Amino acid sequence: MPVIAIDGPAASGKGTLARRIAQELGYAWLDTGLLYRAAGMIAADDGANPADPVAAAQAARTLAKRIAVDGPSALGDPRLRGDQAADAASKLSVVPAARAALLQLQRDFARAPVAGNRPASGAVLDGRDIGTVVCPDAEVKLYVVAAVEERARRRVKELQGRGQTAIYQAVLEDLKQRDARDSQRAVAPLKPADDAFLLDTSALDADQALAAALSIITDRLSRAVFVSPKVSS
Ligand code: C5P
Repeated sequence: MPVIAIDGPAASGKGTLARRIAQELGYAWLDTGLLYRAAGMIAADDGANPADPVAAAQAARTLAKRIAVDGPSALGDPRLRGDQAADAASKLSVVPAARAALLQLQRDFARAPVAGNRPASGAVLDGRDIGTVVCPDAEVKLYVVAAVEERARRRVKELQGRGQTAIYQAVLEDLKQRDARDSQRAVAPLKPADDAFLLDTSALDADQALAAALSIITDRLSRAVFVSPKVSS
């Protein structure tokens, strides 16, 4: 079962890229940032600090249980796309026990990907630690980067497109803070896997980034040997 791991910093374009790759290849897609956002909002809605280790771990376990019962609709809250959720996620994701509570469900998805209600022939996961921790054996690993100023411009455009006010300088500062928190944390920090392909999208539009990614992926997959999971007797 081919697994494509896509990592990179906030607003690097990896989410759009992952969704479009999955569409092109007929694979299922998991936006793992949404898991951290949902867990962060569970903590925030409880009036807890998402950076508090006990509250963060509890919120992540609650989310894992909700997903087991309700499936993807546990991730349907429209607030999850907003800045409050992003901030809560970035704080909660520093807590090792919270990360551990979300690990198995990401691996389960990679092993048995489902799109809608149907099993898919491969999986695309995007996040920060997919190639390094969640799926270290992924057939293809992409690490998507773009200059922080370009990422801030894209994020401002995206927020304005949703009818929200966005100030470039504030968005830039927020991205820098999240980059620092994501890359300096002790557990599963944001960094490329040794065998990841670096894709710099600073000067690429979404279509060009997709074409570059698909060319890497098809080349890798054409060389990969797929081994069926062992069935123990
Ligand atoms: O990708 P997105 O911006 O939605 O992620 C929100 C936050 O969740 C990130 O800033 C990061 O702190 C955390 N995250 C993570 N590991 C992942 C995905 C997201 O730590 N695999």
